[in-house]
Amino acid sequence: MIKEFDTIAAIATAPGNASVGIIRISGENAFKIAEKTVKLKNVHFTVDRTFDHTVHYGFVYDGDELIDEVLLTFFFAPRSFTAENVVEINCHGGMFVTGKILSLVIKNGARAAYPGEFTKRAFLNGRIDLSQAEAVIDIINSKNDFSLRNSEAQLLAGVKKRIGLVRDKILDETAFIESALDDPEHFDIDEHRDEFLLSCQRVVEDIKEIIDRSGNASLLKNGINTLIVGKPNAGKSSLLNVLTGYERAIVTDIAGTTRDTIEESVSLDGIILNLIDTAGIRSSSDEVEMIGVSRALSMIDRADLVLYVMDLSSSVDENDKKIADSIKSKNIIVILNKSDITDAKITDDIEKFANNISDKIVVISARSGEGIKELRNILVEMFMLSEINFDEDVYVTNARQLECINRALNSMELVVEGIRNESSEDLLTIDLMDAYSALGEVTGEQVSDDLADRIFSKFCMGK
Ligand code: GDP
Repeated sequence: MIKEFDTIAAIATAPGNASVGIIRISGENAFKIAEKTVKLKNVHFTVDRTFDHTVHYGFVYDGDELIDEVLLTFFFAPRSFTAENVVEINCHGGMFVTGKILSLVIKNGARAAYPGEFTKRAFLNGRIDLSQAEAVIDIINSKNDFSLRNSEAQLLAGVKKRIGLVRDKILDETAFIESALDDPEHFDIDEHRDEFLLSCQRVVEDIKEIIDRSGNASLLKNGINTLIVGKPNAGKSSLLNVLTGYERAIVTDIAGTTRDTIEESVSLDGIILNLIDTAGIRSSSDEVEMIGVSRALSMIDRADLVLYVMDLSSSVDENDKKIADSIKSKNIIVILNKSDITDAKITDDIEKFANNISDKIVVISARSGEGIKELRNILVEMFMLSEINFDEDVYVTNARQLECINRALNSMELVVEGIRNESSEDLLTIDLMDAYSALGEVTGEQVSDDLADRIFSKFCMGK
């Protein structure tokens, strides 16, 4: 069932000069507004069914003034992005001309759309669920192949189906209890307790699997937060530079020049590293530098990965031990840098020290770029990225959706505990229904208006 809304319009393409700009109009009056705004072959026209999913050549006029030469595409409800009547005007892609046409469309009866309002309508009109709507924004924001493929799978209802199956099972369990409550004489839950426990445990396992599998996939999608640490002059900035491919941080021979942190996302053949270069960590009397050092240490919590850069041409000292101490609990790759220096070699001291910190060690030259491929291979192995197969499955990588799934897990764990402790059927039903609604929030079957507004407000204009 299509809900009643006013007719909205927005520029759907990115602002700026481009070959084509698109103004999208959606709603009951979309066709009427198009008739007022455009002449086809310079004559007025009336939209009829033959226009559905067809493209027409015409001209936008403001009164007698010709504004632009355009192409119009018509989509009849419900076979459109919003499930409403939609017209798209393809015009020349200048900021001024697209703005002028949008103003005209608004003058002719449309309202300027809010960000994400077209997708919101698709959701409210039941054409897509919330996980699919979020996939739309993820596709737009995709930074690599993995992310794009996963978002496409989500758009094709991958998450909806996966979550739907778990919800169905929860509903079955609830029905099971309800029958015991409705007909206690003939149906005693105690006789089925083991069977019931097993089913609910299976649901817990299902949910856990969704969560577990999402972790590394999220890293692929959003990037691995990577902190580069090491003593001054070890080559941290040079490593950052070789990874980014250009000189972003100042590289000098004076120890302690990188005073603040620098954040940069780089893609190592599709693996995104959100790099945080830090001031060389060492004891320092320079106050400004010390701020950089403490910031570096404070960022350790945020890091999924620490790249510990060591200079092969210098020796291990107290400062190394201090750094090693502060990054103990992290995923660490030790980078032995400056392999190009002829007399640089891995001394027993360095080897012993590196082995103590991590079993992932790579020898590189930030100067020549040697060893960067090996670094990528270690990343793949470390985060089990090769096991992620976006062609076969869909991974939940959206933080909001994961939060709902985690809540569902908590509730289902309470159910399992409750069955073991012989809790009352009423209590079990409450937890089962909590799990059911939490999962319903993933797909938007149970979602408040406020939340929907918050989600769609993050979308770009015209989407
Ligand atoms: P940071 O203080 O750890 O950020 O170190 P920098 O990246 O500023 O490097 C310190 C010095 O070491 C600079 O003179 C760099 O040119 C030099 N350096 C960095 N990496 C290499 C390398 O792989 N080989 C050689 N030969 N020198 C390097």
